[in-house]
Amino acid sequence: MPAPQIRRTKIVATLGPAWEAEDRVVALLDAGVNIVRVNASHGTPEIRERWIRLLHAVRDQRQSPTGILVDLHGPRIRVGTLPAPVTLVNGQMVTLAPEAIAEEGEIPTTYAALAADVLPGSQILIDDGLLAIDVTAVRGDRVEGRVRYGGVLKSNKGMNLPGSMVSAPAVTEHDRHEVERMVALGIEFIGVSFVRRPEDLQDLRRIIPRSVKLIAKIEKDTALANLDGILEASDAIMVARGDLGVELPFEAVPLVQKRLIASANRHGKPVITATQMLESMVSNPRPTRAEVSDVANAILDGTDAVMLSAETAVGQYPLEAVLAMDRIAREVETHGHRPTEGERRRWQIPAPHFARTKAGDTPTEDAIAVAVAAAADLLAAQAIVCFTSSGFTARTVSSYRPKVPILALTPEPATFRQLGLVWGVVPVLMPHLKHYDPMWSIARNEILTRGFGQEGSRIVVTCGVPFDIPGTTNLLKVETL
Ligand code: PGA
Ligand code: MN
Repeated sequence: MPAPQIRRTKIVATLGPAWEAEDRVVALLDAGVNIVRVNASHGTPEIRERWIRLLHAVRDQRQSPTGILVDLHGPRIRVGTLPAPVTLVNGQMVTLAPEAIAEEGEIPTTYAALAADVLPGSQILIDDGLLAIDVTAVRGDRVEGRVRYGGVLKSNKGMNLPGSMVSAPAVTEHDRHEVERMVALGIEFIGVSFVRRPEDLQDLRRIIPRSVKLIAKIEKDTALANLDGILEASDAIMVARGDLGVELPFEAVPLVQKRLIASANRHGKPVITATQMLESMVSNPRPTRAEVSDVANAILDGTDAVMLSAETAVGQYPLEAVLAMDRIAREVETHGHRPTEGERRRWQIPAPHFARTKAGDTPTEDAIAVAVAAAADLLAAQAIVCFTSSGFTARTVSSYRPKVPILALTPEPATFRQLGLVWGVVPVLMPHLKHYDPMWSIARNEILTRGFGQEGSRIVVTCGVPFDIPGTTNLLKVETL
C-alpha cells in the first residue's frame, strides 16, 4: 500500500454565514479545513456561542483535531454608525469626530482619542485603505482633512492611522468579556489583534488558562520593531496582511512576510499567512493566477498555515476556496524543490560556522529535532513519531521541516487540537500511559492502520523523558515495524 499523501501545510478557514449550517461545516472539514477561525469583529456573542457549540459537536462526532481560533477585535478603530452611506469626493474637506459628539455631516469614529493621536500631515485610511483622508488640522476633539481618495463611506468600516502611535489598550474591555466567555465555552487559540509589544500578550496571559494558545497578529510597524520579544511571548503568529498592507506601504508586505515566517520558524513557533489569499473567490469559482502564486509562495516561504477570511466567511464559493488551497499546497509540497527556512536551518546546525549560534549553544531539543529529521532521511523512514504532552516536541521537530509525516501522539485533548495548526503534524489522541512499550504499541498500530508504514518499515521516534514534563525533548529511538 503506498503511503497516504498528507498535506503538510495547514488550512485555517473563517466561519461565517456562508457555511454555518451543520452539513456545510462537515463538508468544509472534509475538504481539509484544519482550524476554524471565529472572527469576533463580526456578529454577536450569541452567534459565536452557537457556532462554537456546533463545532464542538461536529468535531466530537468526527473525532477530528479541529482547533477553534477566536480572533479578537482588539484596538481597531472604526467609522461609527452613519444613518446612510455617504459618498466622499476627491478634494472634499471633511471633519471627523468621536461618535459621542459627532454632528450631522461629520464622520463619526469609534476612537475617542483620534484627535490626540494624529497630526496635520498624517493620513487616515478607511476600508482597507480604499478611502484616504489627509489630515489638515486638529481642533479640540475634531480632526479636519481633505479627501485624497474618495468613494462610498459606510458604517463600521475599519480605520488605520499609519505611522501614528495609537494609544488605545491592546486588550479592550470588550475583548476581555469575549475572552472570558469563549474560554469558558472551550477554544484552543486566541488571535490578538494589533499587538505592539510583548506586554500586550502577557496582559492577556494573566486571564486565560495556560492550555489556550495566543496567536500574535502582526499588523503594525511597532510590532515589527519588537518582533523577537513578541515571538517569545506568543505561541504562534499571524502575518496579518490586511492591516499590515495599510499600516505599512503595501510594497513592503512581501518581504515582511518572508521575514516573519523565517523568524517564527527560528523560534519554533507556528505561523499563519493570512488575508486576501484567494480574495477573488469571494465571487468567483476559480482563483486568479496571481492568487495561486501567492498561496504557493507563502508555502515556499515556509508558512505553517494559510488562511481564508472573506472567501469562506461570506463568499459564494467557500468549499471551492478550501479545495483550491488544498490543491495548491499538495502541488507545491510534491514538486517544490526550493528548500524552506526550516530545511535550511536543519543543514546549518551540524555546521555551526554557518549558523548564528556556536556549537554548544544549540538547545537539546533542537539537536534532537535535527537528528530526528536527518535519521528519517538516512534511514528512508516513512514516518516520525512524537510522544508529546504540551506539543513542544512535535513543534520543534516540525520547525526543521522533515520530509516525512510527523505523527504526534498526545494524551491531552487541547494539544491534540492545537497541533492541527502545525506544519506536517498528524495529531493522534491516546490514553495517558506511563511506560514506553504500550505507547509504542499504540503508535505502531496507528501507523499501520493509517498506511504510514508497513511491516519492516523503519520509524524514528522522539519524546521527552520523563513524559509528563513539557519541554524536555531528549530521546531519539529507531523502531522497525
Ligand atoms: P483581520 O486580521 O481580518 O481581523 O483584520 C487579519 C489582517 O489584518 O490581515
Ligand atoms: Mn487585521
